[in-house]
Amino acid sequence: MRPVSSWGRLSADPHHVIELTDRDRVAAELTGATTAGIAHGLGKSYGDASLNPQGILWSTRGLDRLIAFDSASGRLTCETGVVLRDIQRLMIPRGWSLAVVPGTQLVTVGGAIANDVHGKNHHVVGAFGDHVRRLRLVRSDGETIECGPDLKPELFAATIGGLGLTGVIVEAELQLRPTSGPWLEAETLTFEGLEDFFALSDESEAGWEHTVAWIDCTSGKAVRGLFMRGRPTPATGSGWRERRRRLPLTPPVSLVNGLSLKPFNSLYYSVNRRRTGLRVVHYEPFLYPLDSILDWNRLYGPSGFFQYQSVVPRAAGLEATRDMLDAIQRSGQGSFLAVLKTFGHRAAAGLLSFPQPGVTLALDFRNSRALPELFSRLDDIVRAAGGRLYPAKDARMPRALYEATYPNLAAFARHRDPGMSSAMSRRLMGT
Ligand SMILES: Cc1cc2nc3c(=O)[nH]c(=O)nc-3n(C[C@H](O)[C@H](O)[C@H](O)COP(=O)(O)OP(=O)(O)OC[C@H]3O[C@@H](n4cnc5c(N)ncnc54)[C@H](O)[C@@H]3O)c2cc1C
Repeated sequence: MRPVSSWGRLSADPHHVIELTDRDRVAAELTGATTAGIAHGLGKSYGDASLNPQGILWSTRGLDRLIAFDSASGRLTCETGVVLRDIQRLMIPRGWSLAVVPGTQLVTVGGAIANDVHGKNHHVVGAFGDHVRRLRLVRSDGETIECGPDLKPELFAATIGGLGLTGVIVEAELQLRPTSGPWLEAETLTFEGLEDFFALSDESEAGWEHTVAWIDCTSGKAVRGLFMRGRPTPATGSGWRERRRRLPLTPPVSLVNGLSLKPFNSLYYSVNRRRTGLRVVHYEPFLYPLDSILDWNRLYGPSGFFQYQSVVPRAAGLEATRDMLDAIQRSGQGSFLAVLKTFGHRAAAGLLSFPQPGVTLALDFRNSRALPELFSRLDDIVRAAGGRLYPAKDARMPRALYEATYPNLAAFARHRDPGMSSAMSRRLMGT
């Protein structure tokens, strides 16, 4: 048994961690288990999706082999503990790229599938599951099942975004996209007001593969922000060298607090507004800026932090986003990292996938006693607007909200593996 935390560091309960290292022995490991367990990738989910206190975690980090690559079609077959960054660094110089990578590359293929993750290019390519062609799934009774969009499609749809609850995925075949190389033409624009944000999104979606905005959530009703957009370019930028820093220790209290929020947001805004204009940049710092500071989650101190990520349909997006920002500002809570992005119209591949057409807002909050009241207010706004919350970021959504906003739950339940259970599944589904 050893303590395991997720990215939000809200708990560190003991878990019985079993390292999976041989994909042909996973069935034997699962059938040998006397209690339910859950797969665990790199633990980058913020809440309890990959936690199972006092129970089994099947760690997939040792399932890290690439199995086959067809350079004519761009099909890559790999084990599911492979980290997305390793695929990108190997494949991009060869002219191929993963279609979808989230805001950190430091996640596993299995984690990316089980949360059907999205990137800054959702409006162009959809989510991770849209590019999975085949999965090999091991169930807790030892059965190994192959599935894909055209092979056992219902089980496949349950497994994409299925939070690890249909079995342990040991192998995946991914369709990569051709790429011109590691450079992006990028532009940062300032905006004032949510109308401006939506106008910039609409204007950018046709010509820019990656779009995302940072907003100063302390700026009140006339919200100000930075709109960032990027697209692949064959041009070459000036050399990029990876620089990694690590937060050396956990401060005794959160460094994100009422005193630091406003100055930090103002500083971030004024530094970055000077960087507006077109540049050629390497894809890593542009797409995954936080990956250069390892363990930045310690900034929030020993009590950890929550992320609240919602999506609401576009028609209600302006008003709902304004209401949420207003409620956050009035509560005195706030976020260093408030991110706003529009999703595209593609129907999700998974029964429980989070993305839906609309606008997604993500904010971090230090753990404090004021949060339940604020979250309850935000939940009401999201629900009334026809939206939902993202389980990958969640540690507290009430079960009633989950049931009301994920209409495919009953269809999903038919494919659940009874030997798979997590703290999240018990909280949101009862088992
Ligand atoms: C800084 C940061 C930025 C982020 N940005 C984004 C973003 O832009 N977009 C986005 O969508 N997400 C984002 N995320 C969330 C992250 O992409 C997801 O939580 C992802 O699932 C984490 O992958 P992991 O390998 O760490 O999996 P874990 O967190 O360990 O597990 C996640 C889920 O996958 C299941 N799982 C893992 N491996 C397997 C397997 N082999 N078989 C079956 N189930 C499995 C687990 O049971 C669990 O339910 C971000 C996270 C961080 C920390």
